[in-house]
Amino acid sequence: MIQDSIQILQAQGYKVTKPRRQVLEVLEGTQKPVSPYDIQRLLGKQGKYLNHVTIYRVLDLLCGLNLAHKVLSKGGFVGCSLGKTGGCHRFVVCRQCGVIEEFADEVLCQEEGKFARSFGFHTECHLSESSGLCSDCYRKQVKQDSTV
Ligand SMILES: [Zn+2]
Ligand SMILES: [Zn+2]
Repeated sequence: MIQDSIQILQAQGYKVTKPRRQVLEVLEGTQKPVSPYDIQRLLGKQGKYLNHVTIYRVLDLLCGLNLAHKVLSKGGFVGCSLGKTGGCHRFVVCRQCGVIEEFADEVLCQEEGKFARSFGFHTECHLSESSGLCSDCYRKQVKQDSTV
């Protein structure tokens, strides 16, 4: 997948610099959202160093290209798992274990766009997250409830 990201960078005319590659690698290697500080710490473990300004700039670029996203409720960043899938990329976030799932649905975007247009608003992108319980945590909770 990092190869895909690198191809997209190049196709958009961006050089694959060392910081860009390093941040992409960190995002690729983690399941949970990471902050710029986490990224710095994880790189440090491998004997690599990037300053915060650089990490923020790289994240800005990657988010702008849809190669990474900010998970709003967690304040951290994840690599995009959908590639060029149409529609805005959205997340469901488990409030118990923190697992996140990315999805996109063009019909959902169209519906939201229609809704916004009804009061004259022109939508450029949708940011949305659903908070709740993943299937595992939900099952555990139901089991717990039944033993009380
Ligand atoms: Zn995505
Ligand atoms: Zn969960």
